[in-house]
Amino acid sequence: MDLKDIEKNYERKSDEEIIRIATTDAYGLRPEVYAIIENELKKRNLDHKIIGGVIAQNKEYTKDELEVYSNNLRNLPCPICGNEYSKLNATISHTVASFIVFSTYSAKLTIACPSCLDYRNNNAMFSTAMLGWWAPSAAIFKTPLYVYRNYKAKKQNSISNANDTLLSFTLAKIGEIEVYKNDREKLKEIIKLVDI
Ligand SMILES: [Zn+2]
Repeated sequence: MDLKDIEKNYERKSDEEIIRIATTDAYGLRPEVYAIIENELKKRNLDHKIIGGVIAQNKEYTKDELEVYSNNLRNLPCPICGNEYSKLNATISHTVASFIVFSTYSAKLTIACPSCLDYRNNNAMFSTAMLGWWAPSAAIFKTPLYVYRNYKAKKQNSISNANDTLLSFTLAKIGEIEVYKNDREKLKEIIKLVDI
């Protein structure tokens, strides 16, 4: 598509769609398209800061730089218990549930305070241990593995730095974090329980 067509295409999009692309879906856009988005933001009187989301998604980061970004999320109150005093981190809880003839596997991402993260992993371990065994043979082999994954994830819940799960999440959401870094309500939306 040449630039004129791209420009026309953006003109037809709604404000919400422009904001969504700029904050969450701009990875890999050609730099010439940045100017088109910038122009649309201006024409529509939308917040100029939104262009920062496009730029943020197309940069490379060191681990230290991601840590700095992750602090925007870590300093929020825990979305589960409301605790404002512990820095937040992230975990993935792994669950196997089996129903005689079939099994379901799930991996759920949670961002919360360390005690709520532990609770999530414990719950996943418990339900996997209870339900993972009533299973066709494939699931029986996976049950200990899933219990172990929770055990391993749990060790990262209370470390003082952002753990790798949170850093990956931060990178995935970098456009939104850049644009909304001074807007706590928007940041809270980003970390509400997310399924992956
Ligand atoms: Zn909590």
